[in-house]
Amino acid sequence: MTLANKPRVTLLAGGVGGAKMAEGLAALEDIDLTIIGNVADDEEFHGLWVSPDIDTMTYTLSGRINRQQGWGLADEGTRALDILTTLGEDTWMMLGDKDFGLHIYRTMRRTKGHRPSDIARDIARAFGVKAAILLPTDDRVQTRVKTQKGWLSFQEYFVREKCAPQVDALEFSGIAEARPTGEALAAIADADLIMFAPSNPLVSIEPILTIPGIRDAVKAASAKKIAVSPLIAGKVVKGPADRMMASLGLRADACGVAHHYQGLIEHLLIDHQDADLAREIAALGITVTCSDILMKDAQDKARLARQVISIAMGGKLNGEAA
Ligand code: GDP
Ligand code: CA
Repeated sequence: MTLANKPRVTLLAGGVGGAKMAEGLAALEDIDLTIIGNVADDEEFHGLWVSPDIDTMTYTLSGRINRQQGWGLADEGTRALDILTTLGEDTWMMLGDKDFGLHIYRTMRRTKGHRPSDIARDIARAFGVKAAILLPTDDRVQTRVKTQKGWLSFQEYFVREKCAPQVDALEFSGIAEARPTGEALAAIADADLIMFAPSNPLVSIEPILTIPGIRDAVKAASAKKIAVSPLIAGKVVKGPADRMMASLGLRADACGVAHHYQGLIEHLLIDHQDADLAREIAALGITVTCSDILMKDAQDKARLARQVISIAMGGKLNGEAA
């Protein structure tokens, strides 16, 4: 990596966990940040196209996020949803009044035939987000979850069923025919650092990597490739990743994360609590750094972001040691 220009960092990210990492990176002045988000959680509700992970990213990086929830807008209301309930609609998907405004805008432009990537870019710009938020594909890709209740859409599993059913299989419908966006491929090829956010590896990062061309582009990229584990002491901070990994036959700990990303990443940050897994992960050919990877506040996020950049730069950023 050269120091002549700002290092170009491309973050692969899902929703809440991804947005926390993105916030830390966005707080650093000395990098050029691009995010490739997940569109496989997208779904239509009440005739509107909702893109939960991209919206979480946009709301977070524009400072509009509901901090307690980690998703949705701050200072929201449910008047629109209440009317839909009165009209007999199924309203288990929480969509706030202000949030509806965004979904109306996105749907209007999609109906006019505009590229989803352009719509996402324009929304982020209008909201004052400095980092580029890219879509991995403009095509429709949707995560499907096989449970005892049958195949569910991701939001049916995640929101309606509150992740209670055991996950027996996952599939990404439409992915074989999906084409990667030129912007995403360029952001991967041109990056100095490709970072894997501590997002759900199976339903946030995997649907990005599985879009034809993306995984190969990441493998071929000259960038450093570093991941932060979403699991700490065998548990998620939030969400179903640990149970999902276990029910799908993966080890539900930082070692399982390392196995999953083997061949893609060179370096993995795990929590100090998982120091005993470091040897096993190193045996996979992945360099390990033990750190405090729980991001409780803005300081934690920026510190972790700075540490990852510093590792990528060989300790040349802000005089930090790698
Ligand atoms: P979603 O799309 O909203 O489900 O969010 P992501 O897939 O981006 O992130 C979910 C993952 O983030 C979960 O597996 C959490 O364990 C992980 N996560 C959330 N907060 C933190 C944190 O502070 N540190 C780490 N290391 N992981 C976190
Ligand atoms: Ca998600």
